Amino acid sequence: MVSLHTFYKLGFMQIFKKKNALINCLSMLKQENKQIGFVPTMGALHKGHLSLVEESNKNNDISVVTIFVNPTQFNKSEDLENYPKTLENDLELLKSVHCDIVFIPSVEEIYADNVLSKSYYFDGIEHQMEGKFRDGHFDGVATVIHAFFEIIKPNTAYFGEKDYQQLQVVKKLAEKEKLPVNVIGCSTFRGNDGLAMSSRNARLSENQRNASPLIYQTLKKASGLIKTKEIADIYTFVKDEFNKNELLDLEYFTIADQESLQEVTTIQIGRKYRAFIAVNAGNVRLIDNISLPVN
Ligand code: AMP
Repeated sequence: MVSLHTFYKLGFMQIFKKKNALINCLSMLKQENKQIGFVPTMGALHKGHLSLVEESNKNNDISVVTIFVNPTQFNKSEDLENYPKTLENDLELLKSVHCDIVFIPSVEEIYADNVLSKSYYFDGIEHQMEGKFRDGHFDGVATVIHAFFEIIKPNTAYFGEKDYQQLQVVKKLAEKEKLPVNVIGCSTFRGNDGLAMSSRNARLSENQRNASPLIYQTLKKASGLIKTKEIADIYTFVKDEFNKNELLDLEYFTIADQESLQEVTTIQIGRKYRAFIAVNAGNVRLIDNISLPVN
């Protein structure tokens, strides 16, 4: 079992549970002009997370990873309760990619006795797609990322394009709050069959897992149709693909402007677009997205 003291060492990797101990350690490193890269996670780590740590390692002297299942970003308590927890394995994986510092705070350490989100305005991008289906989700995400940025004060922070809307929200957070951090998006890491790696994949039954590559296959087909078909026809195509499948329920498919994330009905030359999808396999919710080759 991992010791739950304030400070713990696994090989060269340092593990903190208390923010003051972490802040002291990082302030010494900053005095030595070390560049700090930051990768926030909720644990249950997989190769997608590790690819972010590797990106941070390439461009920084020190990589800090947080493992924190943030209660305020879950709108369903069962989703929070069922979130997989694999701390021992996570720490071994982080050690294997030469992560320098892991911060594993308690909920109290981050929120004290006020486990609530702050309210943010991100020019409306927070109300699209995930924002419509997960009420308050992005306020929760922004609250915890804001807190981590203030504790860690990273030079650069790395986020996966798999959660593209979250990446855009964090970029807006940094811009609006004037936080001196460079926010970088990293490509989605996929299995050989194209399914985006996700901590939630572990909760899929064998049949659901076998069905789920349809998500990325459909996104790729939609992307192939964008130059020749009307957007409305692409929506119909995607709905039909999922109607034919008994194990996967389409929650939304949206073609949106890559910056504003506003849904579009026509394509304009000179702008960039992405297709976004959310699918339920039983009670496991999977999301993915793809950039569209319009210009
Ligand atoms: P999570 O632990 O799900 O909150 O994810 C932590 C970070 O890892 C977020 O920036 C995610 O977008 C990113 N991430 C999750 N899955 C992948 C993936 N398959 N490829 C790349 N990044 C990912």
